[in-house]
Amino acid sequence: MKSVILVGSTGSIGTQTLEVIRRYNEEFSVLGLACYSNVDLLNKQIKEFNPKYVCIVDKSKRDMLISGNYKLVDTIDELSDIDADITLNAVVGISGLNVTLNVLKRGGSLALANKESMVTGGQLINANRDKYFGKILPVDSEHSAIFQCLNFEKPTCEVHKLILTASGGAFRDYSLEQLKNVTAKDALKHPNWSMGQKITIDCATMMNKGLEVLEAMYLYDLPQEQVDIVIHKQSIVHSMVEFVDGAVLAQLGYPSMIVPIQLALTFPNRKYSGTEYLDFSKITELNFAKPDFTRFPVLKIALDVAKVQGIMPIVMNGCNEVLVDRFLKGQINYLEIAYYLEKVLNKFENNRIESVEQILEVDNLARAMTTKLMR
Ligand code: NDP
Ligand code: MG
Repeated sequence: MKSVILVGSTGSIGTQTLEVIRRYNEEFSVLGLACYSNVDLLNKQIKEFNPKYVCIVDKSKRDMLISGNYKLVDTIDELSDIDADITLNAVVGISGLNVTLNVLKRGGSLALANKESMVTGGQLINANRDKYFGKILPVDSEHSAIFQCLNFEKPTCEVHKLILTASGGAFRDYSLEQLKNVTAKDALKHPNWSMGQKITIDCATMMNKGLEVLEAMYLYDLPQEQVDIVIHKQSIVHSMVEFVDGAVLAQLGYPSMIVPIQLALTFPNRKYSGTEYLDFSKITELNFAKPDFTRFPVLKIALDVAKVQGIMPIVMNGCNEVLVDRFLKGQINYLEIAYYLEKVLNKFENNRIESVEQILEVDNLARAMTTKLMR
């Protein structure tokens, strides 16, 4: 039986992870569960999965937890120090950084959904993964697709390019004029995927694809020039690998996060997932197009950041987290996201990353600068 610690258990990825565990409950035991503040759902999960460790970050909710045979852990960082066969990081934002690092530092297996930790701490994360022989199993669908196309191996010099597919988000076909008036409610209507709010907004600006380019660069040790993006509105091809001889391998399936989540848990084996099988007689076309930087300047900003790396991905990520939150609250409009990202990035001189403390300091500075400029 594999023991699983699930950080971010009440979210979109978290609840789908528990669906997989429910289906294969003879193969997995839930060792730990953690969320930010959704105590009602966490209580239900505690009842059903009987974890040994529980963490709820929001202290004001702690006395609402049902009693049980578990130990209450103070922080998600502490929870991730506990030895489990797999720790799945499904927290949103840079708050997941230490979870990622801790699992790798104890040489554990990390199923990684939290892309913001890879974007901000990629170099440090890889150094720790290599030093302590930790393992990263990608959960993000594009990165899982690449993992599968690479036959679960690291890329060799035979790999020419990784090709990430992008649905294009809720505003894929909007004109610049239309983009002036879109709201968070419009952005939350994603055409193909049902996900948490932050990533759905990131899809609408295409920041998500920028973050995923950085995630791919660090996961697969490749420079930005070897990671391409293609718009693919059907979300059937989840990503591809192009080899030096011109051969391209792709991973296909109907859009479902259950498949990559389950593969990360059952790796290296595959199992029935309950996901509908592709019916090629019904797929009349698969379209591919170049991303449009004029309508989606956020993606261009992210790719420029990916080229230079250093502290810039941290600045961009911190600033973006603040901007997405403001956009969700209706305090800034859609086009202001690109405007402030550019402005904040211009305030920083690039530098090398030496430590987690430095990452968190840069993140704080970027957030403070964003808030200051918006006043
Ligand atoms: P959700 O917003 O749905 O869920 C986030 C989870 O993290 C919740 O359990 C939430 O708890 C918890 N959480 C939020 N903030 C904190 C914090 N500071 N400390 C501890 N726990 C916290 O997000 P998603 O599931 O959509 O996304 C999770 C991650 O996976 C993101 O990095 C996203 O980019 C990535 N991802 C998501 C995909 C998807 O399909 N959803 C696809 C690919 C990647 P609470 O409910 O109490 O607030
Ligand atoms: Mg993705």
